[in-house]
Amino acid sequence: MNTNDTEIAWSILQKAGYSRTLELQKADVVLLVTCSIREKAEQTIWNRLKHLTASKKRIQKHKRSLTIGVLGCMAERLKSELLDQEKLVDVLAGPDAYRDLPRLLSLAHGGQRASNVLLSLEETYADVIPVHQTLEGHSAFVSIMRGCDNMCSYCIVPFTRGRERSRPMSSIVEEVRMLSDQGVKEITLLGQNVNSYRDLSKLQFSCSERNTQLSRGFQSVYRTKQGGLRFADLLDRVSLINPNMRIRFTSPHPKDFPDEVLQLIQERSNICKHLHLPAQSGSSRILHAMRRGYTREAYLELVENIRKIIPGVSLSSDFIAGFCSETEEDHQQTISLLKEVGYNIGFFFTYSMRKKTHAYHRLEDNVPAPVKKRRLEELISVFREKATKVNMTLIGNTQLVLVEGKSKRSSEELCGRNDGNVKVIFPKTNLPVQPEKTQMACITPGDYVLVKITSANSQSLRGHALNHSSLNDRKTA
Ligand code: SF4
Repeated sequence: MNTNDTEIAWSILQKAGYSRTLELQKADVVLLVTCSIREKAEQTIWNRLKHLTASKKRIQKHKRSLTIGVLGCMAERLKSELLDQEKLVDVLAGPDAYRDLPRLLSLAHGGQRASNVLLSLEETYADVIPVHQTLEGHSAFVSIMRGCDNMCSYCIVPFTRGRERSRPMSSIVEEVRMLSDQGVKEITLLGQNVNSYRDLSKLQFSCSERNTQLSRGFQSVYRTKQGGLRFADLLDRVSLINPNMRIRFTSPHPKDFPDEVLQLIQERSNICKHLHLPAQSGSSRILHAMRRGYTREAYLELVENIRKIIPGVSLSSDFIAGFCSETEEDHQQTISLLKEVGYNIGFFFTYSMRKKTHAYHRLEDNVPAPVKKRRLEELISVFREKATKVNMTLIGNTQLVLVEGKSKRSSEELCGRNDGNVKVIFPKTNLPVQPEKTQMACITPGDYVLVKITSANSQSLRGHALNHSSLNDRKTA
């Protein structure tokens, strides 16, 4: 979301005549796009702000000014602390106030501290075409909705990013079409809760039987929206734009996976067979305390249904270690869920309590830090062991890989991602333009290549490339 917010803010500033530099010495304005989801993310920004303030003093000695701004969730959450108490920033803009940035910056240039942290019920930046910044330009994020209504008890997002609102489908389709024309090979539909997408501007398309949306066994703390165009409609439209462009989406909530969405993913070769299913915990008691709206059993039933409809699907998840009142037994339940599901990709965090949340007001952050840390390490270790086994089942298979660039470890190797979003590393070489053709071509970022997998660990797959390919003649034997 922060990458996308940067692209939106940058688009607005570019129109207002600003140009971008990545060198601090050349900058008149430095803007930090921030995240509040965990304490660690905020600490990084506090440290950065202290460094920037020191740089600002040095720059001022040379009779130049430097305006420092904080954008996004921290601006929303810590407005008075940032602006008045610590006096580290000149400009604050919350996630719904980026259109106001040129005005805020001109106030700051006039010597005032300026802020706008109003949350909106409508702002989706639908008409702002983001300036996409991704490396090599072969993949892009497309924001489809903002905010979240779910109110999970640990989460600050509903308070910093506001109520859930969906961007009109027509503007999403237009942006994806534009990206496709620019040669982008992969888009990720982006939002806090993408699969609860509802474009209510087209209510004439609604009919009552299309409103049953929740996955079996799942509940929602808010009234689900009725009518309009749903996530299945959006996926359908977007995936038809260019059959050779991969479609991904993140982050979904497990409650909104009706069979219709799963069947569409299975049918369309350009919708990646990778689902992020954030479980957070394997204990029904803790899931209840987290207000996630499902039990362990409902989650496992969903996994079974997904695997029935999309065989070979790759699964990823988020987990929180040491949530309020989590016992050893609850922790063991999460370990057993990890073993039972067998995820390809996992993201693990220790719990850090955020002010304003339901947990802050009603629950006690009573798992000691060393216990949280130990449980986190245990979760990661179990995940790695299992993920290695899951990824090893791909040895001998041929995977279609979208090339991202050089691998981090060696300039003689390239890396990319398979359909399941697992990293694939392979030696750089020239390849036949098609199978059994003698004409050769080098591999560049944004190419699709077929890679024969020869080894695997919990993080990545390794192999050797066979030939150039495309999604149209996809082979994943
Ligand atoms: S679904 Fe829950 S965890 Fe995700 S953004 Fe919304 S409130 Fe936060």
